[in-house]
Amino acid sequence: MSISPKILPELIDAIAATINENADEITELDQAIGDGDHIYNLQRGLDALLKQKQELAQMDWVAAWQKIGMTLMSTIGGASGSLFGTLFVAMSKFGRNQQINPQSFAEIFSQGVESVKKRGRVEVGEKTMVDVLVPVSQSLKESVAQSMPLSEVLENVKRAAISGMESTRDMVATKGRASFLGERTKGHIDAGAKTTQLMICTTADTIESHCES
Ligand code: ADP
Ligand code: MG
Repeated sequence: MSISPKILPELIDAIAATINENADEITELDQAIGDGDHIYNLQRGLDALLKQKQELAQMDWVAAWQKIGMTLMSTIGGASGSLFGTLFVAMSKFGRNQQINPQSFAEIFSQGVESVKKRGRVEVGEKTMVDVLVPVSQSLKESVAQSMPLSEVLENVKRAAISGMESTRDMVATKGRASFLGERTKGHIDAGAKTTQLMICTTADTIESHCES
């Protein structure tokens, strides 16, 4: 089965709503070990995508990922802007000339995550969004390799995102602003890991609701 970019307006609406609903918690997390601006940065990016959503729906995935990536890079700002942007621009690059299906998407997403790691000079365990992106990518690859039904693939992705987000609580930040606080970052979930988890879980839920209807 394949999912068309026509899902994008609904997906962007759902993601923006989830981020808005969790705004207070996200701000608290970023205030505890960052500078508190992550929510505003992300909302700026999502506002820009909300304006482009109908245009994006008319594109193919490769063109849509490229536009989403460029928009996020130019609107979010902060450390997270270039990283979220890199994810989508890299997915566009690696997706070129491919049919997009769950198998190819798992590989394309994994290449996107590798590009984020390179861009951020970051590995798993450093208390960042990468602690969500990497387990999600691994789960996706394993699930599609076993030809699981899409609903199970999505359930596994959500579980990986949530446990990845929670894993950041006990980590010491070694990248980004939070790294200035060193050991004092222990006990707090990373804000970027939280928003990444929320966006991934909302994406999975939106795709799932389409498959049921
Ligand atoms: P800033 O830190 O510049 O204020 P944001 O507040 O928008 O930017 O984003 C902070 C988030 O970005 C962190 O919570 C973390 O998840 C992520 N982040 C910061 N630096 C890196 C990095 N080098 N690699 C991966 N993710 C990073
Ligand atoms: Mg910040």
